Amino acid sequence: MAQRYVRVKTAQGQTYYGLLQLTRSIQVLDAPPWLQGQPTDLELEPGSYQLLAPCAPSKIVAVGKNYIDHAAEMGTPVPQEPLLFLKPPTTVTSANQEIKFPPQSQRLDYEGELALVIGDRCVDCTPAEAQAKIWGYTIANDVTARDLQRKDGQWTRAKGFDTFCPLGPWIVRELSPGARLQTFLNDAAEPVQSTSIDRMVFPPEFLVSYISQVMTLLPGDVILTGTPKGVGPMQIGDRVRVEIEGIGHLENTVVTRSASVTM
Ligand code: MG
Repeated sequence: MAQRYVRVKTAQGQTYYGLLQLTRSIQVLDAPPWLQGQPTDLELEPGSYQLLAPCAPSKIVAVGKNYIDHAAEMGTPVPQEPLLFLKPPTTVTSANQEIKFPPQSQRLDYEGELALVIGDRCVDCTPAEAQAKIWGYTIANDVTARDLQRKDGQWTRAKGFDTFCPLGPWIVRELSPGARLQTFLNDAAEPVQSTSIDRMVFPPEFLVSYISQVMTLLPGDVILTGTPKGVGPMQIGDRVRVEIEGIGHLENTVVTRSASVTM
C-alpha cells in the first residue's frame, strides 16, 4: 500500500503532519513532508486525533471544463487553454466533515476531482519542471452553487463558500496515469461520475506549468484538475463520496448552513 500522508489535530488542539499506519496510529513528522519533514518519536494512537485536510494551501487554483464530456454537458466548447479560477483557502474542509448548504443557493452540485499538491515553489516552470513540483495527489469535491454561478456570470461566490472544498483524506505520492475517478451519492451502487483521469484535456504537468506562468505556486498549494461529466445536485442530508483508484475515498454529508454556526 502506498504511504498515506495526513494532517491531524489532537484532542489538545495541536496540529501535526504525519504518516498513517496500517494500525491507524500516526507517526508524527516534524514538518510538512514536502518541506523535508522527518519522523519523530511521537506516535498518536487511533482515537486520539482527528483527520484534517492533508495540507493547508495558500490558494486553491481550479480548472474549469477539463474533460470533453463535462464541457459538452454544460453546453459549452472545451476551452482552447485552461480556464482558471480560485477557491479561497477557507473553502477547505476534511473527509467526513459537513458541506454547508448556504441559504443564498437553491442548487448545490458535487464535482469529483483529482487534486494536485505542490511541493516546491513554482514560477515559470516548463511542463517537465512542473512534473517535479507535484509532490502528491489527493481527492477533492469542487462544490458549486450552480444557480449562483449562472446568475453571477463569474464564479467567485458560487465556488467560494466555506466548506466548498472537501479535500483528502490523505496524500499519496504516486498515481497510475489511468486511475479511475468515481463519485457516488448515498448508498447507490452505480456512480454518478466515472472516468479515467487520463481523459483530461490538459494533463497535470501542463496545468501546473500554465498556472506557474501566471502566479507563483507555493508548497502546499492545491490544483483542482476539473470534473468529468455527471455533475448533479446534492440535497440536505445527502452523503457524497468521491473515489480515486490508488488514493481512497473522500466522503462528506450535506447539512443546512445556519448563520450562527461556527465553522
Ligand atoms: Mg470543478
